[in-house]
Amino acid sequence: MTAQTIDGKNFAARIRGRVADHVARLRDERGVTPGLAVVLVGDDPASQVYVRSKGKMTKECGMESFEYRLPETTGEAELLALIAKLNADGAVHGILVQLPLPAQIDAELVINSIDPSKDVDGFHVSNVGRLATGQRSMVPCTPLGCLLMLREHCGSLSGLNAVVLGRSNIVGKPMAQLLLSESCTVTIAHSRTRDLQDVTRRADILVAAVGRPEMVTGDYLKAGATVIDVGINRVERDGKNRLVGDCHFDSCASVAGAITPVPGGVGPMTIACLLANTVTAYCRAHDLPEPE
Ligand code: NDP
Repeated sequence: MTAQTIDGKNFAARIRGRVADHVARLRDERGVTPGLAVVLVGDDPASQVYVRSKGKMTKECGMESFEYRLPETTGEAELLALIAKLNADGAVHGILVQLPLPAQIDAELVINSIDPSKDVDGFHVSNVGRLATGQRSMVPCTPLGCLLMLREHCGSLSGLNAVVLGRSNIVGKPMAQLLLSESCTVTIAHSRTRDLQDVTRRADILVAAVGRPEMVTGDYLKAGATVIDVGINRVERDGKNRLVGDCHFDSCASVAGAITPVPGGVGPMTIACLLANTVTAYCRAHDLPEPE
């Protein structure tokens, strides 16, 4: 069997197109433009790439992009003061603080200082609680992107066995919540899980978010499973830097029914969902219909 490749790049471009249409309508009908503020502290190379790409796509969708690049030595109080300013700024509808933050800053404190209605990453504890209790919330972008791809590929997810590999607050846990809300039977596996392959081989849907290059091979999969590879791992191969996922693509593709590639799968969907969340935040703040 050779799995179908789920094209996240193409799907993300369609979502960005819908976001751009919505933004154009808001501008034409109401004379307003949603704005996204991205805050980067320090000079982590991967974070710089993400922030640049987020800013570029925000502008391409017709929205305002506000970028704040602060030095590695920035103190917690200074960052909290910037967040307070952005919370109060009527031109800013979404606020994203790029993680990881330097060690002198308490990331949890900073995230929970963002106005929950502008928390387009969905990491504020009130959004986490609202998602867990089935209330309207801002949904974290990476798991949301994974869910949209699963819905598009599988249709109804109701009753399917879903295994989420990884239990981080930013990917694994919210992913599991979303799959539960789709009526999947959800198992969360992690580094202490026993007989991991026995667990993953029961999955109709496997979401891999472990941060271990190509750890998941075909042996982990049930034949025909749908595999979403969240991993972004930089490895050196044949003297070149390459990006690989948490899944070994070729061996998984020989067993799975469908699989997302790396790059070109979850990554572009994450940014598309960030843009969609920013428009959603704007619409909610102004009691307007939300984008679909
Ligand atoms: P974390 O390091 O926060 O979490 C990794 C999880 O994997 C932990 O729960 C850990 O278990 C589990 N784990 C680690 N090793 C094993 C193992 N050998 N067997 C089973 N479980 C294991 O990572 P993130 O959730 O932040 O990210 C995961 C991956 O997704 C990374 O590659 C990251 O780069 C990528 N990512 C991609 C995004 C995108 O846009 N495509 C966005 C965000 C992340 P335990 O809790 O027991 O330690």
